[in-house]
Amino acid sequence: YATEGEHDVVVIGGGPGGYVAAIKAAQLGLKTACIEKRGTLGGTCLNVGCIPSKALLNNTHIYHQILHDTKDRGIEVQGEVTMNLAKLQKAKDNSVSALTKGIEGLFKKNKVDYFKGTASFVDEHSIQVQPVDGGEASVIKAKNIIIATGSEPTPFPGIEVDEERIVTSTGALSLKEIPKKMNIIGGGIIGLEMASVYSRLGSEVTIIEFMTSIGGAGMDGEVAKQSQKILAKQGIKFKLGNKVTSAVREGDNVKVEIEDVKSGKAETLEGDVLLVAIGRRPYTKGLNTEAIGLDIDERGRVVIDQEYRTKHPHIRVVGDVTFGAMLAHKAEEEGIAAVEYIKNGHGHVNYGVIPGVMYTHPEVAWVGQTEEQLKKEGIAYSLGKFPFLANSRAKTNQDSEGFVKILSDKETDRILGVHIIGPNAGEMISEGVLAMEYGASSEDVARTCHAHPTLSEAFKEAAMATYDKAIHF
Ligand code: FAD
Repeated sequence: YATEGEHDVVVIGGGPGGYVAAIKAAQLGLKTACIEKRGTLGGTCLNVGCIPSKALLNNTHIYHQILHDTKDRGIEVQGEVTMNLAKLQKAKDNSVSALTKGIEGLFKKNKVDYFKGTASFVDEHSIQVQPVDGGEASVIKAKNIIIATGSEPTPFPGIEVDEERIVTSTGALSLKEIPKKMNIIGGGIIGLEMASVYSRLGSEVTIIEFMTSIGGAGMDGEVAKQSQKILAKQGIKFKLGNKVTSAVREGDNVKVEIEDVKSGKAETLEGDVLLVAIGRRPYTKGLNTEAIGLDIDERGRVVIDQEYRTKHPHIRVVGDVTFGAMLAHKAEEEGIAAVEYIKNGHGHVNYGVIPGVMYTHPEVAWVGQTEEQLKKEGIAYSLGKFPFLANSRAKTNQDSEGFVKILSDKETDRILGVHIIGPNAGEMISEGVLAMEYGASSEDVARTCHAHPTLSEAFKEAAMATYDKAIHF
């Protein structure tokens, strides 16, 4: 093998966890390399996750609005409005490629050595890189290693994905035609976002979910219910409390057998596309972790301590491939913290205030604890809620579904959770994150001047309603 010069830090994986760690390490003066096998940087998030899904969500939202929500705005659309799927895809691809190339530019600017190849461990300080475009493998020596190899879709036992008719989120982001009928296994964020995209494009979409509520673990119960109601009004069908027993492709048709968990009643759903979106699992294939004996738990996560160290203290792990929420911003925070541990001996991620966002319309966003969690833990709390219907900007924009809900400690008024369903909730949640990071009380927020007319005033008024009364509701 050709041996590369020794690096202070070698990062495996160029997703949000890995590329951010690499840039940070280089900025701190460490000689840094990043190995990525995809051929482009940005990982799942930029290539087949956050970014392409948001491109489709944004443009289908505009399309849907032109079709259904112009009349009361004085906008008269003449002639037929149609969607050119190929161009919609092209717009998505352009965003993805601009952003992934942008990271490559940042690597150059910060002098990160970028290796396009597959990394596998030779020993605790040596990593073999097999170039993606063939050619001879080389070995990179590293003082420190950060594993950021991410995750992959969890397969559904017995269902064979062909990424054409039976798809994961990756296939769903690049369908060649708009399905007439699309069934989706899983009512989590990814399932609901893709359901929104295709429902807006005219597909008849049905969500099949084993649990009796949508949104997954972090979403507040009241918000989840409201969101489901709104999505149902938009035309998405829900089969909650149902389990899938089998799914098979027959030509251009996919047959899904489901069973009501409570009654045992069986039903067959047919459709031209089935999306399997039951979650993601950590990805370590091909990394040859066996060579250095890394501990991997029963769910495939690489085991680490509080400082992201494996049993080999110079090998750290961040992002989807280890514990915690599988979110891009969580991976990024960890990437920076892991590097700071290497360089300075200390780093910081506040796991109590990692926001979650679902980019449907209206958006759903949250941070901190849900009412259900507080009740379960027996924590006494105050609740302040403010509907967007009473917010001047939301009313003016004719986009006033949803509310802001703030939960604070009954005794100290410290904010314990913020749950928003409404327009721009994903932007607005940052105020809640900042407030909680600084240990703010709801009164601190309510006494902070918010510009008028903005959606954020709903946030301020919900905070007011937590310890006192809102003005406009
Ligand atoms: P990844 O992004 O998965 O990156 C890991 C990289 O490592 C990959 O590019 C892989 O090719 C590379 N790799 C793996 N093994 C090797 C090896 N042996 N050698 C070299 N390279 C290797 N999160 C959000 O926060 N917001 C969203 O809106 C959002 N939307 C999403 C939508 C979809 C459809 C999906 C699927 C995910 C979404 N996510 C979202 C989740 C987000 O994409 C992940 O949490 C994030 O990408 C995790 O970052 P990571 O760096 O840990 O791993």
